[in-house]
Amino acid sequence: MDFPTPCPACGFENRVAFTDSGVHDVTCAQCRARSCVFLRKQRFEVLFDLGTRALMDGYAREAVASFAAALERFFEFYVRAFALERAAGTEQDFSAALGALDGTWRHVASQSERQLGMFALAYLLRQGREPDFLTPAGLGTDFRNRVIHRGALPTRAEVDAYAAAVFTLIDRLLTELGAAATHVELAQEGVFAAHLARLPDGVTAVFEEHPGMFRARRFGGLSPVTKPERPHQTDARGLNDARAFQQALFQRALAERGELLRAFKGSGG
Ligand SMILES: [Zn+2]
Repeated sequence: MDFPTPCPACGFENRVAFTDSGVHDVTCAQCRARSCVFLRKQRFEVLFDLGTRALMDGYAREAVASFAAALERFFEFYVRAFALERAAGTEQDFSAALGALDGTWRHVASQSERQLGMFALAYLLRQGREPDFLTPAGLGTDFRNRVIHRGALPTRAEVDAYAAAVFTLIDRLLTELGAAATHVELAQEGVFAAHLARLPDGVTAVFEEHPGMFRARRFGGLSPVTKPERPHQTDARGLNDARAFQQALFQRALAERGELLRAFKGSGG
């Protein structure tokens, strides 16, 4: 998966493959100038935007894997934000806190069920209540498994509903996290700074901030959607209202940010 980025020397639009670190070493295909693109975007954002692009391009089945991966990476993002937020309120040095966090994450990195456990506790400790949305229905687990592990061919409507549910959940949790998210971004800036310090002479550093489905909300560009008031969300009517709300929120974000996303990923990927 790649994204277009203009060469700082000649303006030629190179295509660069996304990296996990957000650091991309580029040699211009036209003038051979070297640059380093630092992409200020979290992994869950990249994955969700790739899923959205796949959906917009008509690859509904492929989109499911990206949305599912985005949700898993978001749970990691939440745990990291929570841990660094807590450390920030103590005497502990940021890099020491980050090192302890990275070491801890290694124990759970290879198993998503362990990560879900970490997230559940982080949510309880931060919000003081049960993460009641962590049910198979709330996470669309059965649908996801049918598509990803059993090769089911989902309808467009099913994928739209899944995308909307994942979007709404991440959007809600991001809103709850608020400024805590900046701690994880600070960690990314630290990675960038370390790489920047090691860049050889003659390599131009480029910092990019891409638009995306969640950037909109976080920087205040997405208009609010009012959730329908329903005292009982457990009956069939309440469930339908919740789905309608998720769809409305996702469709609104798509309408406002979809075209920007088209430009961000370009047509070649
Ligand atoms: Zn160039």
